[in-house]
Amino acid sequence: MKRLAVLVCALMVSAGALAQEQAIRPLDVPMSFSGTYGELRHDHFHSGVDWRVGGKVGDPIHAIKSGYIARVSVSPWGYGNGLYIKHPDGTTSVYGHLLRFTDAIDRRVEEEQYARESFSVNLLFEPDEFPVRQGDIVGRVGNTGSSAGPHLHMEIRDTESDLSLNYISRGVYKPADKTSPQFHRVCFYGLEDGVVERSWRVHNLKSPASVRDTLRLPARSYVAIDATDRQEGTSSKLAVEEYRVWLDTTQIFSFKVGDMPSSEGRYIKSLIEYRESYDGGRDLVKSRVDPGNLLANERIRCVSNGVIELRDNAVHTVRLEAIDEHGNRAVTRFRIRRDTSLHAPDPDPTYKREPWVWYRQNQVNDGSMSYYLPAGALYDNIEFSWRRIAGPDPGRGIISDVWEVGSPTIPLQLAGELEISADVPEGLEEKAYMANYGEKLTHAGVHVRFGTYCVAIDTVAPTLQFLGNKGNIVVDDGIRIRVRDDASGVADARVEIDGRWYVSLLKRDIVSLELKRERVRRGEHTIKVSVTDVCGNEATETRTFTVQ
Ligand SMILES: [Zn+2]
Repeated sequence: MKRLAVLVCALMVSAGALAQEQAIRPLDVPMSFSGTYGELRHDHFHSGVDWRVGGKVGDPIHAIKSGYIARVSVSPWGYGNGLYIKHPDGTTSVYGHLLRFTDAIDRRVEEEQYARESFSVNLLFEPDEFPVRQGDIVGRVGNTGSSAGPHLHMEIRDTESDLSLNYISRGVYKPADKTSPQFHRVCFYGLEDGVVERSWRVHNLKSPASVRDTLRLPARSYVAIDATDRQEGTSSKLAVEEYRVWLDTTQIFSFKVGDMPSSEGRYIKSLIEYRESYDGGRDLVKSRVDPGNLLANERIRCVSNGVIELRDNAVHTVRLEAIDEHGNRAVTRFRIRRDTSLHAPDPDPTYKREPWVWYRQNQVNDGSMSYYLPAGALYDNIEFSWRRIAGPDPGRGIISDVWEVGSPTIPLQLAGELEISADVPEGLEEKAYMANYGEKLTHAGVHVRFGTYCVAIDTVAPTLQFLGNKGNIVVDDGIRIRVRDDASGVADARVEIDGRWYVSLLKRDIVSLELKRERVRRGEHTIKVSVTDVCGNEATETRTFTVQ
């Protein structure tokens, strides 16, 4: 009898586990993704999936499981209007770029915006405030934040660890896919010993599948791969789940994205061939593993740090594999042969150089410039290079020497601290700023990565221009004002209607606001817009408008 009781108990437990909710789809439209988990995005891995919605905003978003709304965040960038639902199974579902939330939450957001006089807000809720049942409508699909078109960005995170879960590979949302990934570009880089190992591009293969020749390579080299996945019913280039590199019969490198903690995402800069990504374009995964790349603990497996070592003059084979989460696999092979006459190009003699060790802090002081890089910033030993390229240029507001500090094609996990001494004219101390030097000067701050910098002064206020009808403001559903600043850049914009702060969005060079009937009633009103640049120069303009 006792034995039976135990059995019944065990059965009940497993029935309970079975009864746990399976995630449903957040949208009513057919499942199709324009972005998938693990896509390489220069400085982070895409940590969710992007659901396609047919180019329009407004579709309802359903809670994928029961739970409660734990957080909403509103920002001009990132997820824009972001929604976080905590589920009892220890996961949190995250929904990004929403047009709006539920009416009740929209009201709470607005209250908070006016209480804090801030467009950006972050609200945390208790479990009893906004409970949701699976399938409830929790918001509408939008295009807010850093989004280039209407879509729903969705993630499932482990609530405790904040680990973002790869739920495509877990099979939660897995559209049919029989199509293999595709190789777009493969590059080989030579490695040459010196005080610091130098690398240079030896082959840039833009149609890798059609290469028939035997490739000549120096004794030590590595390969970098641009591959993406294809799925039926979408032309989008999606993430490859796993990359593998073989030298003859030895696998010398593999990378599998897995579940990625957001804290490790930036190590992507060390996974990709950063100098190719510097000019934009798609990222290439490189086989050479930097000693400072923390992804190497679990996600990267390698032999000889992923370096192709040729110890004889025989023909060898490099085989590349790109595998998607369904196991579809693309394979390409190259015949390679050692050529000891290949050497790194001579370094540009106009730069000063010194070796910097990756696990240390490093610093250079030279005349009017000093740059300090903390430990943990470098992924590998580098030859740090720098030079003074010009003196002050008062016509452009440049009041210091112009310095090239390191090569911007070298990736950094952390920024360094830059000081450049300058003769600041009396009384203009507040107007001086560290600038990125180029055709235009832009505000850089003192914590910077490798680049070209100078100190400049900005005494010119931003400009602002009401868009639409010149004389009177056309009140349709909103008001838009273009704001510009040629030097240090627009830092802040403040809108007041009839003397009271009014919520507005400053994004790129446009300030926009929605006129809400509850806040702006029929009749005549004044709107005052003040714009401030980074150096505190301010411009203000006031207009009147009539709401009919
Ligand atoms: Zn996304």
